[in-house]
Order: sequence, then structure tokens, then C-alpha cells
Amino acid sequence: MDLGIAGRWALVCGASRGLGWGCARALALEGVNVVMAARGQAALQAAVAALRAELPAGAGPQIVPVVADVTTEEGRAALWQAPGGPGRAFDILITTAGGPPPGDFRQWGRQDWLRALQANMLAPIELIRATVDGMAARGFGRIVNITSSAVKAPIDILGLSNAARSGLTGFVAGLARSDLAARGVTINNLLPGKFDTDRLRATLQAAADASGRSLEEVRAAQLTQIPARRLGAPQEFGAVCAFLCSVHAGYLTGQNILLDGGAYPGTF
Ligand code: NAD
Repeated sequence: MDLGIAGRWALVCGASRGLGWGCARALALEGVNVVMAARGQAALQAAVAALRAELPAGAGPQIVPVVADVTTEEGRAALWQAPGGPGRAFDILITTAGGPPPGDFRQWGRQDWLRALQANMLAPIELIRATVDGMAARGFGRIVNITSSAVKAPIDILGLSNAARSGLTGFVAGLARSDLAARGVTINNLLPGKFDTDRLRATLQAAADASGRSLEEVRAAQLTQIPARRLGAPQEFGAVCAFLCSVHAGYLTGQNILLDGGAYPGTF
């Protein structure tokens, strides 16, 4: 299927690794020009080089790396000034930032809460604010926020994530149903369950260290909770993201789409 978005410009956050990388790759393979944002220069350069190697030589889309922490004003300013980028005139926006740490809410102070809200609620809203009116004026826009299955089925030790991402979800539910819907802009959230990324591997390792079990034992125990009996691949996540950004998904807005191998036990 031709997704009909070749030549468009996308801003993808968290694009050097994991789910953001999966989205950047899938969009670039569809011919979308991509500004790839991440914090670490070395990982970002490596990701950009690997992606360019996958694209058709000479005729591929533009890939523009920007080292930026998207949770800060300076980081977001760097995105709009990326040399070779479109300024704020993006057609597609994929938001994500690192997830907050697990823990017990009795140990979290105001600063912990503000950090989580900054990363997982306010930064995506600021990125949307900076780009959405331009999309509407041009009559086409696709915004996908990478949130978490924890929005639908909260995880007790991830209270910071449950709360901050639910705030973003409530905001998006209203915004997606505003006049933007009639002006060609869709806004949706993708909710990952368990995907095989550096972050998930670190989480499994921490669980193994804490319990005295091997990494393989912890991994196998987690897989029993997933009907698909495997972790998701960032490429699969990226493919769904690219479809949501396609011309074919213009009637799909304000939705929360769970990608979890069947782990959520409800009918809906
Ligand atoms: P990852 O750690 O493998 O990759 C994170 C990427 O985001 C890296 O490129 C990193 O440089 C970038 N990044 C992090 N903070 C950033 C910031 N402030 N500014 C710019 N770039 C930043 O993580 P992942 O597993 O791909 O997860 C992506 C998001 O999805 C996270 O918020 C995570 O909590 C959430 N999530 C992941 C899973 C999973 O199974 N992997 C499940 C649920 C939710």
C-alpha cells in the first residue's frame, strides 16, 4: 500500500533508539523527510547513518539529525532551527521522551512529579502547540504521541507514568475533536505494551538483579503474560505509526491504539 506521504516532513522525537527509531525508520522508508531528535549525539549519528544506508542511494528522503532534549525550551528551539529542516512547518509529529522511573509514591517529591509532567505531558503539548496550527493552515497534519499501555491498564510502580501520560491523553482527547479535525489534522496516541528496546532490556535486567534470577528467567516469566509469547519489535511499532500518518488514516482521530501482543485482557 502506498501511504501517500512521500515528500512530507516529519519530526520524530526519541529517534536514535527504540520506538522513536522504529517510527523514524518506517516514515523514511515511505519517502518522508525526517528530522530525528535525540539527546545523545553518538547514538543519533549511528542511527542516522544506519537509516541512510537502508534508503535508495541518491534519491532517498532527507534525514536531519538534531541533538536536543525535547523536554527543555532550548531543546525545542533547536528543533525549529535545524539546518535543512522545515522550521516549524512539519506535516507529521511523533512525540516521546524517556519514561519516568518506577517507585513508591511515598518517596516522590514535587520535583519528581514536575519532571514526569514535563517529559510525558507538557513537552508533547508544547510540541503540538508549536506545529499544529501550521498543519491546519496547510490542510494536512498527523500527530502521534507514544504513550504507554499503562494509560489503559495502570502499573502500580509506574505511578508517575500512569498519571503524566493520562494527563496528556485527556488533553489530546479534547484537542483532536476540536476544529482541527475538519482541517485535515488527526491526533492519536500509540500505547506500547512490551517492546524489545534498550529501555525494556534495562528494566528486565533491574528486575533480574533485584530478584536474584537470571535475565532469561525474568524475560520468560514476562512472556507468559503476553498471548503473542514474544516482545514487540520497534519495526512493527513503526509500521503502525506510519499507517496512522498516512493519507488513508484521515478519519481516525482522538484514538488510543494499544500494541501489546494481546496482553490487555479486556474486550475493548
Ligand atoms: P529507549 O530508551 O529504548 O529509547 C528512548 C529514545 O528516546 C532514545 O533515542 C533517547 O535518546 C530518546 N530520548 C529520551 N528522552 C529524551 C528527551 N528528553 N529528548 C529527546 N530524546 C529523548 O526507550 P523506548 O523503549 O523506545 O521507549 C520510548 C517511550 O515509550 C518511553 O517514554 C517509554 O517509557 C515508553 N514505553 C516503552 C515501552 C517498551 O516496551 N519499550 C512500553 C511502554 C512505554
